[in-house]
Amino acid sequence: MIVINKVNELEKAVDALKHEGKSIGLVPTMGALHEGHLSLVERCRKENDVVVVSVFVNPTQFNNKEDLRTYPRTEEADKKLLQCAGCDIVFMPTVEEIYPEPDNRIFNLGRVAEVMEGAMRPGHFNGVAQIVSKLFMMVKPDRAYFGEKDFQQIAVIRQMVKTEGFNLQIVPCPIVREADGLAKSSRNVRLSGEARNAAPRIYRTLHESIEFAKSHTVDETIKFVTDTINSQQPLMEVEYYQIVDGLSMMPVSSWDESNYIVGCITVYCGGVRLIDNIAYKK
Ligand code: AMP
Repeated sequence: MIVINKVNELEKAVDALKHEGKSIGLVPTMGALHEGHLSLVERCRKENDVVVVSVFVNPTQFNNKEDLRTYPRTEEADKKLLQCAGCDIVFMPTVEEIYPEPDNRIFNLGRVAEVMEGAMRPGHFNGVAQIVSKLFMMVKPDRAYFGEKDFQQIAVIRQMVKTEGFNLQIVPCPIVREADGLAKSSRNVRLSGEARNAAPRIYRTLHESIEFAKSHTVDETIKFVTDTINSQQPLMEVEYYQIVDGLSMMPVSSWDESNYIVGCITVYCGGVRLIDNIAYKK
């Protein structure tokens, strides 16, 4: 595995590999790696000749300065994990290397980027599009791997690929969970003992709602999930729970409106913002 910090070195390395006819897979991350990230690397390893993983805490996608300042950074541990996972190139640039000057690009991401996370975190998806488009231009991957944990992000990136004319395959990968169901996340380290004990209730409730939904409407199911989690107030507070079409991200009002239906949730748990989702129809 080689560690690269400079954009021109990354471009040189991938260009040489592409010249040899090698297929290239990219896994973009912000580091503080866990098994969720490693499942993407594993899938990428199976499907490509060369695995490139980027580790970069992208400032332009943070709409909250404190979140950026306290985002966990574990670079040495990340390198070790990536080495074991069969990564070929890890790209760890500085902020100045990626943004030598401010990136003022505004992406036309359409309605998929306006709801849910787009509504709650203004500018977040534009920042994601800035960094992911830069990485796509530098690495020119054949495939790029994203976790369904950030469900809406996949729809936004697909939209960006379409409008920017990138020629690559976006590969969505299933959510990796802790044994108690909590979706693995770099931000889980911020949970207090009490919040960590309560957090599995999010997935447990989503899971229970699958059965509930069989005999209830979409609106009743939204209420069931929201009320069940909010019964733990003040420790847990639902920011939103929306049941949407899995491709367009538009809310559905009945179960037969689409054959791909997903519930997306954000919960403040002991002050830490956690996201998760579950498919009702797929
Ligand atoms: P992040 O470092 O949080 O930006 O995540 C990098 C990539 O890993 C994104 O595509 C995430 O969706 C994905 N990811 C994060 N957590 C998980 C998880 N628990 N299961 C699957 N993928 C994940």
